[in-house]
Amino acid sequence: MPKTHRVTLIEGDGIGPEICAEMLKVVASAGVRIDFERAYAGQIALEKFKESIPAATLASIKRNRVAIKGPVTTPIGTGFTSINVMLRKKLELYANVRPVRSYPGVSTYPNVDLVIMRENTEDLYSGIEHEIAPGVVESIKVITRLASTRIAEYAFSYAKKHGRKKVTAIHKANIMKLSDGLFLECARGIAKKFPKIEYTEMIVDNACMQLVTRPTQFDVLLLENLYGDIVSDLCAGLVGGLGLVPGGNIGKKYAVFESVHGSAPDIAGKGIANPTAIILTLALMLEYLGETQASLAVQQAVSKVLQAKKVRTPDLGGKNTCPEMGDAIAKQVKRLL
Ligand code: ATP
Repeated sequence: MPKTHRVTLIEGDGIGPEICAEMLKVVASAGVRIDFERAYAGQIALEKFKESIPAATLASIKRNRVAIKGPVTTPIGTGFTSINVMLRKKLELYANVRPVRSYPGVSTYPNVDLVIMRENTEDLYSGIEHEIAPGVVESIKVITRLASTRIAEYAFSYAKKHGRKKVTAIHKANIMKLSDGLFLECARGIAKKFPKIEYTEMIVDNACMQLVTRPTQFDVLLLENLYGDIVSDLCAGLVGGLGLVPGGNIGKKYAVFESVHGSAPDIAGKGIANPTAIILTLALMLEYLGETQASLAVQQAVSKVLQAKKVRTPDLGGKNTCPEMGDAIAKQVKRLL
């Protein structure tokens, strides 16, 4: 009897419910047994429960240990900490893993196949900002040995497990000598424990240029939180946009899977969002749950649908709707299994 997994499902705001509906179709056609427990976060949670992350949502993730979530909107204005940042901190989801690869049939850079490994708990996301005098504000960048070492360790272990050959630490230690210097010191220390994996370093501005001119030189990118955020979107642009890049936030106890894109309010409700990123995010989650065959089938199905160029949402230059894209992928998954 196959195992039934219990997973928390947070549909989120904006395009979240539309793309999650397509992800659920793919779960059904992959034949994996997942018992989803619905929970709320973001704008919708604020409206329903007067809290952007209700205690019941956190309790659900802690109980199930695994969650998949659509994008959530953090209300704009003072007093609202980013919901994603809060979740990552509260659950100690210290590693943000974002595989970025080119798909056949999507006309962007060919042969890109890299993984972004972003530290998820500190840096300028510490949220420590204050006005020290009228017109002068400070924003504190926090880098610790503990967090830098554990993300480096995760990056190298991931590289080893997934047969990746190289880890590149991205930094600006020529300017931020202490903070980025410590990040590099920790990465170098861990690199020594993995002699079979090549270790290189690159200054962030040069890395951005190199990513645009010769992205195939990269394998695993190891970054602090803010550089990781910016470079993630850059890399998404290399392979066809935010609609195609999945992600996972992983900690020692819990994991929350979510795509890189936000709630895309400009296209919400129009039925034209690309559900591929959340479907590939599902594939990452299936791998984490040990459902390797289903995970591979989902990834191959996405590849085939993109390659066929018959069904594609407007962000990829097509005219199809979000449900049409979801249906095409779900159908392909069924064929492959
Ligand atoms: P956040 O700050 O929450 O990450 P953001 O401001 O970076 O969000 P997104 O919501 O990710 O922005 O959207 C950026 C652009 O990409 C928008 O024009 C949006 O319509 C587009 N976009 C994002 N996700 C998708 C998707 N799944 N399908 C199609 N277009 C998308």
